[in-house]
Amino acid sequence: MQKKQQLCILGSTGSIGVSTLDVVARHPDRYGVFALTAHTQVAKLAEQCAQFLPQVVVVGTAQAADELAILLKEEHLPQIQILFGRDALCAVASASECDSVMAAIVGAAGLPASLAAAKAGKKVLLANKEALVMSGQLFIDAIKDSGATLLPIDSEHNAIFQCLPGNYNRHPGQHGIHKILLTASGGPFLNRDVNTLDDVTPEQAVAHPNWVMGRKISVDSATMMNKGLEVIEAHWLFATPAEQIEVVIHPQSVIHSMVSYTDGSVIAQMGNPDMRIPIAYGMAYPERIASGVAPLDLLKVASLNFIKPDFQRFPCLQLAYDALKEGKSAATILNASNEIAVQAFLDKRIGFRMINQVIEYTLCKVAATEAPDLESILACDAEARRVAGSMISS
Ligand code: NAD
Ligand code: MG
Repeated sequence: MQKKQQLCILGSTGSIGVSTLDVVARHPDRYGVFALTAHTQVAKLAEQCAQFLPQVVVVGTAQAADELAILLKEEHLPQIQILFGRDALCAVASASECDSVMAAIVGAAGLPASLAAAKAGKKVLLANKEALVMSGQLFIDAIKDSGATLLPIDSEHNAIFQCLPGNYNRHPGQHGIHKILLTASGGPFLNRDVNTLDDVTPEQAVAHPNWVMGRKISVDSATMMNKGLEVIEAHWLFATPAEQIEVVIHPQSVIHSMVSYTDGSVIAQMGNPDMRIPIAYGMAYPERIASGVAPLDLLKVASLNFIKPDFQRFPCLQLAYDALKEGKSAATILNASNEIAVQAFLDKRIGFRMINQVIEYTLCKVAATEAPDLESILACDAEARRVAGSMISS
């Protein structure tokens, strides 16, 4: 029998983390759970511990660790080691006991551990797009240098990966690729009168028409910054320049992205909008396993539509293209100011239409510089957060 693949799931209590555990539970003979991590949701983490019996868990703070220790004692699971903090996240992501790391912490907080997994040569299942957006070259170099396998979990990038030739990453740029067509749903405000966008509430912004996701990425989908981050993500994953990455709005979210070739062929990957498909693909790659998702019923889907994105309605998309073209640390600044602006919007401190203004202001104020290592990237991230925060406060 095959040895079980041991997983470390960073962000196990989140939307991607829960979907990953759902796939794990369907294949107990193939997968074991080495580590689970969560920031503050200790009750949910304790339940996951009881079901999946990890060797180690990591939480955000000493207080959360104490709370979890009490819960695990009640569950008669005192043998599970409890750690907390950033260094512990990096330690479990690079531990020799683990084979694959699901990087599913949201935002910049996930970068150190995702990078640690890359450096340690793990099979890295990357959902945490912000990590790649912030650290682009550094992350890709770490993967190459260590011989790690990088599998995109973001549904669009997973689709593109499936539509590219199998040897693509060894010879990027040599396969007659005309364009990557990155599909976008357009989010909840695709057809709303632009002049009323100032009035939208966080609840309306997180109500995505097709996907159930965490709050941050849901707001990013409403501003289309999510697609902007994904353009940058595609640039790094597939060594493709911005000009060859085109965003196409496809409101049904059935085609998850496409690759257009020079001979006129377009290859698309389709499926129901459920993250367990790309998660199962990444977990079992290069094999295929059941994900729990129903087969796609094309007769029920009936029609597929495509629309050109309106950059006036979605200024964040333009900001992301501009940051990618500017290079250096511009994408780090874009990402950090977006995280601050989205949190301020969710906290009802700014309106929806202020999000892109905070990002634009921060990109103007903070100069993009070379940031070749983790420390300089984190310093740039911190400075952008400070500037974005001060604009919001004023
Ligand atoms: P979520 O908010 O549902 O979950 C986030 C997870 O990260 C939780 O387990 C939380 O405990 C942990 N976390 C939050 N802050 C942390 C911190 N400071 N330190 C350590 N851990 C922390 O988010 P999600 O929707 O599951 O998204 C996770 C990542 O996957 C994001 O980068 C997102 O862009 C990406 N992604 C998500 C989806 C989706 O369908 N949800 C699709 C594509 C990509
Ligand atoms: Mg996506």
